Amino acid sequence: MKCIASLEADYAAGLQERLKTEAIPFQVQTVTHESGLDYSDILVADEYFDRACDIAEAWSSEQMTIAQSQSNRHCPACGSINLEYTGADSFGVSVWKCKDCGNGFAR
Ligand SMILES: [Zn+2]
Repeated sequence: MKCIASLEADYAAGLQERLKTEAIPFQVQTVTHESGLDYSDILVADEYFDRACDIAEAWSSEQMTIAQSQSNRHCPACGSINLEYTGADSFGVSVWKCKDCGNGFAR
């Protein structure tokens, strides 16, 4: 068995669902960290490892996209949600421009 991901238990549940959908057999080991949070180590058999990693990667980038689209993004100057994505700055932070007042800001 190889570990493909070690995630917070709540978060890991989503990936477990995805693996079930993809018919990848897996085992979960719950580890309690010093912080008191439960983490789930997701383990798969060696022959499934590569595919499971691909699935985990695709799943995690989906989660990020969802989290980004759900984050409450609005113009700090006028409160408008009518925004245009203009790219990332040199630190990799997303830069947005308000279509209503023209204010540019990073999120
Ligand atoms: Zn604005």
